Amino acid sequence: MTSKDLRSGRGIQVVIPSDHRFALDEEALSKLLLAEDVRDRAVVVLSVAGAFRKGKSFLLDFFLKYLDHTYNRGEAGDNWMGSEHEPLKGFSWRGGSERDTTGLLLWSQPFKATLPNGEKVVILLMDTQGTFDSESTVRDNATVFALSTMLSSVQIYNISQNIEEDDLQHLQLFTEYGRLAQQSSAGATPFQRLQFLIRDWSFPYEYPYGAEGGQQLLSKRLEHEELRALRRHVAGCFARVAAFLLPHPGLAVATDPTFTGKLAEFKTHLRELVSMLLSPENLVPKMIEGQRVKAKDLLLYFKAYMNIFNG
Ligand code: GDP
Ligand code: MG
Repeated sequence: MTSKDLRSGRGIQVVIPSDHRFALDEEALSKLLLAEDVRDRAVVVLSVAGAFRKGKSFLLDFFLKYLDHTYNRGEAGDNWMGSEHEPLKGFSWRGGSERDTTGLLLWSQPFKATLPNGEKVVILLMDTQGTFDSESTVRDNATVFALSTMLSSVQIYNISQNIEEDDLQHLQLFTEYGRLAQQSSAGATPFQRLQFLIRDWSFPYEYPYGAEGGQQLLSKRLEHEELRALRRHVAGCFARVAAFLLPHPGLAVATDPTFTGKLAEFKTHLRELVSMLLSPENLVPKMIEGQRVKAKDLLLYFKAYMNIFNG
């Protein structure tokens, strides 16, 4: 297996907003999804969604490191993060355009993996850009979030510090949008896995870092009577809903671009998160209407969904 150099990869902007409509870079997308060794494999699509400047790209860089280590180099084990002294490479996810545009990016290098049952899949990473702070962009953001939810098998909802009622209301709006657009057949949930990811969690004595604390916090947040409709809605949209509490990576990170990821606690929990999402036994192949989606099919869904939202 050849080991590709991550530094030669980049985030390709495949959905480009323009004037409250969305354009698809069909050429770039076709090149990616119709490649000979990719087109007939089932896709596993991980999307990270949420507001700007909350560490989404930072997280995706760690995902890339793990994917490269595990699937390109075929190395098992826990040492994919590199040494303490090796700085993060800072793979660029910026689509060249200014920071405040919304849109949808795919990493230019798909990762080929084999599931424990022998099925060959390809893993795609999706970065979404959205702002949640301006009324005029609510529709754009809802579209980006809905599109990324419809096109991914795992939607990571990246939020800062805590699960606020606002985050849940946003989620309801966005998934409703996606559910309507998809007009799913009755019965099955239209989407697969929703993973809340709370960054800079600072109450580990209340709820511990990791998946268990996340589950406890999420249950607590959703238990209020007035959120009953929302709870039912989310449960009807996603086959599986989970939450994960990640500590702050250390004070240096916000100011130092060459932050080396020193904080042991952060790394410990990041390792747990990454393995929970990306190790071979945890990969979730994308399903639409009960069928596995191959890379070449995903291209068709991209086009179909774009038409719905532009229609
Ligand atoms: P994005 O806009 O959501 O993709 O955010 P970026 O990944 O570009 O990160 C924005 C800033 O937050 C950068 O300075 C990062 O170094 C910093 N950052 C990354 N992860 C975290 C985190 O978990 N907590 C905090 N407080 N800052 C982070
Ligand atoms: Mg980013």
